Amino acid sequence: MKLGRELVSADAIQRRVREMAAEISRDYARVDQPLILLPVLKGSVCFATDLSRHLEVPVNFDYVAVSSYGSGTESSGHVQLLKDLTMDVAGRDVLMVEDIIDTGLTTAFLFEHVQRHRPASLKLSVLLNKEERRIKPVPIAYKGFDIPNQFVVGYGLDYNELYRNLTAVHVLEP
Ligand code: 5GP
Repeated sequence: MKLGRELVSADAIQRRVREMAAEISRDYARVDQPLILLPVLKGSVCFATDLSRHLEVPVNFDYVAVSSYGSGTESSGHVQLLKDLTMDVAGRDVLMVEDIIDTGLTTAFLFEHVQRHRPASLKLSVLLNKEERRIKPVPIAYKGFDIPNQFVVGYGLDYNELYRNLTAVHVLEP
């Protein structure tokens, strides 16, 4: 597999992230406790970091990690929690930050998991959405880009742990 064409440029990402941050800042302007940002490791780190730097509301960070068994470019649908919440989210406003939603199985699993801890509110922000592949519907509150059904890397997303540091999103080619 090799790095293919650029699908979403670094400029387009930065522009959209700023727009999303403005919308989130408006929506959470009146909450009394800091908004808890909950990035899903490892892929969401670039997006969550850039997004947080443009937010105009106080935030806390917590992180969760999952493995979706399987390697290469297909997710298997068997989701396992590798790292749980460390903060008490009960009664708090939580915003899950996802890099990409494909079948929706990972996000749906995590959403239900966090919901069981009784946050005051739980919403989902995602940078990249592959709507075509959806098996399980997920309630996306803030969406960056709809992309076609292609395996992508960069801006946090990897292939065998490579390419996470790229500033743009690229297609991976055989
Ligand atoms: P799901 O199918 O459960 O929505 O997505 C599972 C996980 O597969 C995502 O969180 C992400 O880690 C990975 N994934 C899905 N599509 C892509 C892709 O195009 N590129 C990369 N690097 N990972 C992906």
